[in-house]
Amino acid sequence: MSVRQALVPADVLPHAETCIGFVNTAGWHASDHPVELLTSYGRLTGWAREHGLLSAAQASLLEQRARWEPAAAARVLTEAITLREAAYRILTALAVGRAPRDADVTRLNRSLTHALRHLRLAPGPVGLGYAWGGAPDALDRMLWPLACATAGLLTSADARQVGMCANHPCGWLFIDRSHGRTRRWCDMSSCGNRTKVRRHYARSKSQAPAQEGQASSTPGNGPCPP
Ligand SMILES: [Zn+2]
Repeated sequence: MSVRQALVPADVLPHAETCIGFVNTAGWHASDHPVELLTSYGRLTGWAREHGLLSAAQASLLEQRARWEPAAAARVLTEAITLREAAYRILTALAVGRAPRDADVTRLNRSLTHALRHLRLAPGPVGLGYAWGGAPDALDRMLWPLACATAGLLTSADARQVGMCANHPCGWLFIDRSHGRTRRWCDMSSCGNRTKVRRHYARSKSQAPAQEGQASSTPGNGPCPP
């Protein structure tokens, strides 16, 4: 049995790609001024619902509680972003062969310990299965599977296949499952095309005489795709 299987039952966890999607909820992540996409607790529950971490009914219940307890919901949002940033730094360190910072591993361990407290055995379609316990309206319940799945990702072979988009400073991560590990961009239709356009523009500019009034900046650098 692998570490991942021992710690984290796969039937209650999101896929590794979902963890990467969560880590990518900041645009231009490798820049000095990332664009935050989780700008409210509602955005967090919306993301979690879209990615199967909450049902529509659960998301609605949490959003209702968040309206009654906005300060508690804001704390969970901060917790989510802190967890995400620790995971991002660990993954980017591993991607370039560096040891992750102790503080980031400690941070993730804290989330993992908290999450595992809510893991339960429950009646399933056949015998018993795993389920997330805790109060149905626990504001941070979408973070439990995320913390466990991120730990699973970091301790699996997938962690060695994590790459960062070559369109710096996009900074979005991906799991490179391509043959020969040749993937370069988070998304070919956005960053891949932007890079090609930029190269083409740079080539044309170097071949053509400079014209008065011509824009000097390179194209691209729009917001990352959702
Ligand atoms: Zn990109």
